Amino acid sequence: MQIKANLVFWGYFLILFSAQSAILKISPHIMHIKKQRLLTPGPTPLYPPALRAMMASDIHHRTEDFRNIYKSVLADLKQVMGTSNDVLLFAASGTGAMEASVSNLFSRGDKVIVCSAGKFGERWAEITKAYGLEVNILKSEYGDVVSAERVEAALAAAPDTKGVFVQASETSTGAAHDVRGMARAIAKTPAIFAVDAITGLGTMPLDIDGWSLDVVIGGSQKAFMVPPGVAFLSISPKAWKLAETATLPHYYFDLKKEKKNGDKGESSWTPSTALILALGEALTYVKQIGMANLIENAQMLARATRAAAKELGLELFAAGSPGSSVTAVKAPRGLDSGVIVKEFRSRFGAVIANGQGSMKGQIFRIAHLGYFDFADLFGVIAGLEIILHANGHPVKFGSGVAAVEQVYADAAVAQLAGTR
Ligand SMILES: *Cc1c(COP(=O)(O)O)cnc(C)c1O
Repeated sequence: MQIKANLVFWGYFLILFSAQSAILKISPHIMHIKKQRLLTPGPTPLYPPALRAMMASDIHHRTEDFRNIYKSVLADLKQVMGTSNDVLLFAASGTGAMEASVSNLFSRGDKVIVCSAGKFGERWAEITKAYGLEVNILKSEYGDVVSAERVEAALAAAPDTKGVFVQASETSTGAAHDVRGMARAIAKTPAIFAVDAITGLGTMPLDIDGWSLDVVIGGSQKAFMVPPGVAFLSISPKAWKLAETATLPHYYFDLKKEKKNGDKGESSWTPSTALILALGEALTYVKQIGMANLIENAQMLARATRAAAKELGLELFAAGSPGSSVTAVKAPRGLDSGVIVKEFRSRFGAVIANGQGSMKGQIFRIAHLGYFDFADLFGVIAGLEIILHANGHPVKFGSGVAAVEQVYADAAVAQLAGTR
C-alpha cells in the first residue's frame, strides 16, 4: 500500500517535471533578431511601394497635380469595387464612413434594422441609437451570423423600415454574413441596405450593382494595404433618394457636398494627402492583380488556416460560416489566448490579434486580408506550433504547416490542370 502510494507520488512528480521541462526547453530568447511583423486584421501589412509613395506628400491639395491623383483614386476605387454607383472618401477611420451613412440618409425616429453578431455589429447599433433612430436589433451569439430569413421576417413585420445595417465580414468573430441573401429580401422593400464591408471588400465577392447594395463601406487599413485614415463608401441612387428627405444633423461628413467636390477632383476639407498617394499606389497594384484574384488569395489562405487548425486539434470560433478576412481560432482548453498573442510578439516579433470584448482570452485571430501570402502563413502556423508546444500542448512539429503546404499544392496543381 505504502509502495503504491509512493509510486503514485513519484509518478505525479515525474509528470509535473516533464511538463515543466517541455516549457523550459523552448526559450523565447533564442533569436537575436526578431523582425517586426504586423499580422492583424487591421491595420494590415503595408504594400511597400504605397509606403514609399507617401513620401511625395509635400504637395498642396488645391492644385492640378493633386486633383488628378484624387480623381484617379476615386475612379480606381469605383473600378475595384465594381460599381457604377458614386464612390466618396473621407479622411477618417472606417467608422467615419459608417457614421456618415447614418447621419446623411436618415431622420430622427426612422425605423432601421441592425444585424449584430459581434463587436462591429454592436457599433452599428451604437451609431444608429446615438442618432435617435428606432432600432430593431437582430442579435446573434458571437461566432454565429444573422440569417437572411430573419432580416426578411423583420422587414415583413415592419414594412416602413428605412434601412438595414450589417457587416459583410464580422472581423471580431471571423464570421461572414449572407449579404446576397439579405439583399434579395431588402431590395424589394423601400429600405436601403448599408453594408460595412470594411473587411469584406477584397475577401469575399460583393456584387454592389448586381445585388443592389445601397451603401458599401471600406477602409484603407484592411485589404487595401495602406495605413489607417481613409474611409470610403459607395452610394446607390436609392440611397441618394433617401438623402433628399433626411434631416439628421451632420457637418464634416456631408455626402452631397463631398460628391459635388469629388466630381471636381477635390475633397471638401483637407484630405489626407499622404494616404491618398499611398492608396493610389495600392489601387494600381490591386487593379494589376485583379479584385477577384485578391479575393481568391484571401480565400486560399483562410482555407489553409482552417486546415492547419484542424490538424493541430484546434477549434474554429465561427465554424458555421467562416469568412476569409480573418480566421478566429479557439485557444486550447486551459491556455489563455493572450499568452499565444504575447508569445508571438516575444518569440517572433509578430503582432497577431486577440479576441475583442468577452472573446478576449478565448480566441486569437489569424488575418488573410490584403498583403498576406503563403510564406506569411507558413511562419504563423510554425510559430503557433512552437508556442502551443512550449505551453504544454504538445503538437507534432510541422503537422500544421504541412496542412498549409497541402492546400497550396492542391491549388497549384488544380491551376495547372485548368480546373481552377
Ligand atoms: C476595422 C473595422 C471597422 C472600422 O474600424 P475603424 O477603427 O474605425 O477603422 C468597422 N467594421 C469592421 C468590420 C472592421 O473590421
